[in-house]
Amino acid sequence: MASADTTELSDILERLKQCGLRMTRNRQKLVEVLMESDRPLSADELRQEAGFSSTDLVTVYRNLEAFQSAGILQRIPLENGSQLFELTDLGDHYHHLICRECHKTERLEVCLGEQLSEKAKTLGYSKIAHVLEVYGICRQCSTATG
Ligand SMILES: [Zn+2]
Ligand SMILES: [Zn+2]
Repeated sequence: MASADTTELSDILERLKQCGLRMTRNRQKLVEVLMESDRPLSADELRQEAGFSSTDLVTVYRNLEAFQSAGILQRIPLENGSQLFELTDLGDHYHHLICRECHKTERLEVCLGEQLSEKAKTLGYSKIAHVLEVYGICRQCSTATG
């Protein structure tokens, strides 16, 4: 499932500009790689696909952080503590179903967050957000392993 279907490069450039971020060549390359990929990528995969050297991983992380604060990037945490990244539409909220074998991800069109934020509100919290991802083994992978 392509994550960038509805996201245009021009929208992304506009969004970055609004957040006061310059579109450098590195940033443009990273955005292109994310748009072309049909699945979320790890920072190191991004670095390789963008043709950056292994010493550039810090740069990749720094730019991903900037993208995230601009609201164009979603971070997908994996069970092993690593993470994947995909482009997202501004203000989009959804959860992922992630295969722990092949790291295929699908969007789950369901959110149980209301209960969580109601509870958090009763404890006096504001600006409440939540991260909830669901892990399993996809049909393809469970067939492959028998
Ligand atoms: Zn799988
Ligand atoms: Zn939710």
